[in-house]
Amino acid sequence: MTHPSFSKLGLSQPILRALETERYAAPTPIQARAIPLLLGGRDVLGIAQTGTGKTAAFALPLMQRLSETRERAGPTRARALILAPTRELAIQITESFAVYGRNLKLRLATIIGGVAQGPQRKAMAAGVDVLVATPGRLLDLVKQGHVRLDKVAYLVLDEADRMLDMGFIPDVRRVIAALPKRRQSLLFSATMPADVERLAREVLADPVRIEVSPKAVAVDRIHQRVMRVNAGDKRAALTRILADPALARVLVFTRTKHRANRVAKHLDQAGISADALHGNKSQNARQQALQRFRIGKSRVLVATDIAARGIDIDDVTHVINFELPSEPESYVHRIGRTARAGAHGHAVSFCDETETDYLRRIERLLGHRLDVSGASGSLRHPPPSKRAVGQEIKRRGRSRRRRPAAA
Ligand code: AMP
Repeated sequence: MTHPSFSKLGLSQPILRALETERYAAPTPIQARAIPLLLGGRDVLGIAQTGTGKTAAFALPLMQRLSETRERAGPTRARALILAPTRELAIQITESFAVYGRNLKLRLATIIGGVAQGPQRKAMAAGVDVLVATPGRLLDLVKQGHVRLDKVAYLVLDEADRMLDMGFIPDVRRVIAALPKRRQSLLFSATMPADVERLAREVLADPVRIEVSPKAVAVDRIHQRVMRVNAGDKRAALTRILADPALARVLVFTRTKHRANRVAKHLDQAGISADALHGNKSQNARQQALQRFRIGKSRVLVATDIAARGIDIDDVTHVINFELPSEPESYVHRIGRTARAGAHGHAVSFCDETETDYLRRIERLLGHRLDVSGASGSLRHPPPSKRAVGQEIKRRGRSRRRRPAAA
């Protein structure tokens, strides 16, 4: 599929230069659709997960609109507010703004919990163009009078479904109540449960709905495989498949924080460098774990769904579901962490006797069965079963977008 290039979308030279530096050749589907609409002032409801390029889809047009007028927000105020569910995602969004806005003179600030308030208050004192925040800490600073929201002309709610899961919707509503009624608003969510639909109706005015289906985005480029493993054998199976050096940068998912710790410890003891990433760790410990993984100091990052949500790590070669997620959508989020922005990736899921139901729900969401093998199979050249080949042929008949199996 060819897309109009970024310049045809109406982006300005300083932004195009930044994209060139980043070597972005063509817009992703969500960028191609959202950017012209947002430059034209429309509200947008984006149904898209991480890995689709959604951050640039909203950051690029917002920055352009902000830089078109030389207005200043005034002390303690922001012109654009981005709300994100997790601290990691908030930091990452700010970093994206800094990268895409390298040739613009926009002022950015991040307000997140778990770190000292002082620097955040200071960053807001003179006012900023873009404020990226998690809802709880933002409300604290608003209550204390260190942040004022009466000049916000652009609002982005990112990963609204995750905000819902984390119980942040009441806080989000409080923040929105403090915003001017006249503003451009955007809401992004990977899934649209009823509560998010309701929130979208409250927040957005006559929005354009843009849907990038997970299947079309990432799943097609990921070689997915399920291994039947007994619960008690999972750790040994993990160590065994990690003996293959092709698994160079591996994200392992567990359902609980406790299990993430246990698995990381087990790998470390087996001589495989691993860190755990979850919500019980301090902000600093989480940043350190992420950084070690990014620069290749640890080969494996063991994470829970919430902790891994939205973090951007390039070149993840394999995602391993040590435990299947209880929500099928999480499976798509998890495996979407490999095969980002055009690359191909691999996902291996351990499924024990108690997880068959989870597996069926995932297959229902994907619309096809997954290739299942025993724990002894090799990861490199998985032999396709007869059934898998038959299903693949049927699948290709159904959708020409699908790629042939990697085997
Ligand atoms: P996101 O969905 O916003 O988390 O972005 C996923 C990843 O894709 C990030 O690493 C971006 O830097 C990258 N990315 C976003 N847009 C493009 C593009 N048009 N071309 C290449 N990479 C991109």
